[in-house]
Amino acid sequence: MSDITLGIIGGGQLGSMLAISAKKINIKTVIYCDDSDAPAQNFCDKFISGEYGDKEKIIEFVNLVNFVTFEFENIPFETLNEINKLKPVLPKPSINRIIQHRLAEKDFVNNLNIRTTRYASVESESEIDSLEDLLPGILKTTTLGYDGKGQYPINSIEELSSLNIDFSKGYILEKLVKLKKEISIIITRFNNHKYEIYEPIENKHENQILKFSKIPADIDKKIYDQSKDWAMSIAEELKYVGTLCVEFFIDRNDNLYVNEIAPRVHNSGHLTINAFNVSQFENHIRAVCGLEQIPLKKISNATMVNLIGDQISEYRKVSKFKDNEFFFDYLKKEIKEKRKMGHITTLI
Ligand code: ADP
Ligand code: MG
Repeated sequence: MSDITLGIIGGGQLGSMLAISAKKINIKTVIYCDDSDAPAQNFCDKFISGEYGDKEKIIEFVNLVNFVTFEFENIPFETLNEINKLKPVLPKPSINRIIQHRLAEKDFVNNLNIRTTRYASVESESEIDSLEDLLPGILKTTTLGYDGKGQYPINSIEELSSLNIDFSKGYILEKLVKLKKEISIIITRFNNHKYEIYEPIENKHENQILKFSKIPADIDKKIYDQSKDWAMSIAEELKYVGTLCVEFFIDRNDNLYVNEIAPRVHNSGHLTINAFNVSQFENHIRAVCGLEQIPLKKISNATMVNLIGDQISEYRKVSKFKDNEFFFDYLKKEIKEKRKMGHITTLI
């Protein structure tokens, strides 16, 4: 029995699944979240609700734990940095600072000679005319976006001008990639330059929200190898500890691009819970808490479907699922449109 207590910042479904995995390997969890209704309180050993800037409450939280990690990347850098002076925060706060800013993230990836879509920072209305080359494109806020929030598809300069955007917030314009497919790589890096890396996962989005994932991804060997290589280079360059996800685009000419990096466990990796001997969540906890690394073994091919908004209702009525089906209800208090409410993994 270990005596380790892991602190997790954020109490959504990723926090829940981290807490469930921790319990399985006898690690206690304390979750800190700014939402007093956070679903992860159903699964952790202790739950503290407070603002991310509330120093006193954060210290109360930090005093209870040995290590701190997080389930989402948009925690203020200052908060993570202060915590890191008291207890190790993994992955390191400096990594978060790069990845929570779309421009810094893309510059970082390009500096590794890894392809991203073309992009430019947009800081004022007057720059718009010089951006024709990046159209059609997608304008994105540089910070705080997720599930397609803060994104505007743009087809013409006129369209961009007519949006009347407050550019003081910081935007990036990305050239639209003519997508053939999207894939992701989930990789866990341990402190000693060792890795566990899952095979590429094929993803489908609807309205910029992940809807469907499957393994194996239907891709050729070159893309299979290149996506794994790039994910390893990124994790190594960051000296990352924990589970990281790299999202990729494949265009119609079979070129691979890094779309973005998630410095955390990822929705496309939910199928690893049932399809592998060790899930992305357990691997994250093992790496962060310095536990033994267990070689990955695939159990089965799988698909995962996200249940968004109302779609959860019919699944809640099912009394018994088939033996190869695994239904997860995130136990969110309210059903909302576009809200991820649960998922179902099917082993195939
Ligand atoms: P989020 O942080 O919301 O996940 P992403 O940048 O990953 O934002 O965008 C969400 C989805 O929108 C992508 O997975 C992809 O389907 C689509 N998308 C975003 N940017 C582009 C682009 N430059 N070209 C083509 N599709 C894009
Ligand atoms: Mg994304």
